[in-house]
Amino acid sequence: MMDPILLTPGPLTTSMETRSAMLVDWGSWDGAFNALTASVCDDLLAIVNAQNDHVCVPLQGSGTFSVEAALGTLVPKDGKVLVPDNGSYCKRITRILGYLGREAVVLPHDEQEPADPARIDAALAADAAITHVAQVHCETGTGILNPLPKIAAIVEKRGRGLIIDAMSSYGAIPIDARSLRFDALIAASGKCLEGVPGMGFIIARRTTLQGSAGNSHSLAMDLVDQWQYLQKTGQWRFTPPTHVLAALRSAIDQYKAQGGQAARLARYAGNCAALVSGMRALGLETFLPDALQAPIIVTFHAPNDPAYNFGEFYRRVRERGFILYPGKLTAVDTFRVGCIGAIGADALKRAVAAIAGVLEEMGVRRFSRAGIG
Ligand SMILES: *Cc1c(COP(=O)(O)O)cnc(C)c1O
Repeated sequence: MMDPILLTPGPLTTSMETRSAMLVDWGSWDGAFNALTASVCDDLLAIVNAQNDHVCVPLQGSGTFSVEAALGTLVPKDGKVLVPDNGSYCKRITRILGYLGREAVVLPHDEQEPADPARIDAALAADAAITHVAQVHCETGTGILNPLPKIAAIVEKRGRGLIIDAMSSYGAIPIDARSLRFDALIAASGKCLEGVPGMGFIIARRTTLQGSAGNSHSLAMDLVDQWQYLQKTGQWRFTPPTHVLAALRSAIDQYKAQGGQAARLARYAGNCAALVSGMRALGLETFLPDALQAPIIVTFHAPNDPAYNFGEFYRRVRERGFILYPGKLTAVDTFRVGCIGAIGADALKRAVAAIAGVLEEMGVRRFSRAGIG
C-alpha cells in the first residue's frame, strides 16, 4: 500500500528529496554541520526580510517548545502579556504564560471572529502595565487568518513588544520584517517549509534578545544562552536534531527553486480551493466564511446524521490513503483537512472523492449542519 497522504497541519507529506536528505549522519561539532546551521538560519531570516535587525535562534523540539522559549526569554518576570484569543493555539499561549508565572490578559474573541485590532488598541490604551502582545497569525485550531499587519502597527504605536506565533503561516503567508515590527516571530521545520518536524526557530530582534539575559526560568529554553553559544562556537547547545536540519536545508532549497513564498501561497490556495469546492459540492459546510479562511487548514462541520462518527470516518478515509485531523472546537462537531505539504490540488480532489465514497458507505445522507443537505 502507498504511504498515506497527511492532510494535517504537521507532520505533513514531504517530498522524496526532503526525506532522502536524512540518509547522512552528521557530527554535531563538525565544521560541515556548523555551516549547514548557519546557512539555514540565514535563509530563515531572509524569508521574512529580517536580516537587518533580527537574528535567528534555532531550538530543538516541536513548535510549542519554541513558543515557550520565546515567551520565557523575552518577557521579563514582571512582564504582562495581552493574548487576543480566538482559538486553541492562543489558549496554549495563555497556558504557557501560566506555567512561566507571567501575567496574562486574555482578550476573548469568538472562534469565527478575527483578532480585532480596535479591541487590542483599546486594551493597550487601558492598561499601561501590558508589556507585550502575543499574537497567533494563522489560528490552526480553526484555520482563521488574523490581521497581523494591522495588529503589529497598533502594538508599535503603543510602544509594546510583539511576539508572533507564525507557526502555520511562515513561508506561505507574506510577512515582511521591514514593514511589520516584531520582537519575535516563531515557526518550525515541519509546517509550510515542508521539512520534517523536530525543531523550531525564533526570529528575534537583536537588541531585544541582548537585553533579555536572566529572564528565562529554564536552561534548555534560554534563547539568549542558545544564541550566544551559537555565535561563539557555530554549534547548538546540546545535541542538535541533525537529520531534521539536513532535511530542512533540502526543503528550503526546494522552496526557493519553486518560487519561494508567492509560489507556496499560490499552491496552497489552489489546494484549498479544490478542497472547499469539492466538499461543498458534496453538501459539506465550512466552519469559516471564505473571507476569513487561510489556505492552510479548513474546518468542516461534521455531517448532521446519526450514521456519522469521526472515528469510523477517519479509519475508512485512512484506508483509502488520506489522514484527516479531528476538530478542535468545543461547541460544534467538526473535522479538519490540511491544505499544506508537498501535495497539489490533484491530491485534494482525490481526498474529496475518498470522503464522498466513505460517507456513502457509512450511509451518511445529511451532510450539512442543519441536516438539509
Ligand atoms: C503547529 C502549531 C504550533 C506548534 O505545535 P507543535 O505541536 O508543538 O509543533 C503552534 N502554533 C500554531 C499556530 C501551530 O499551527
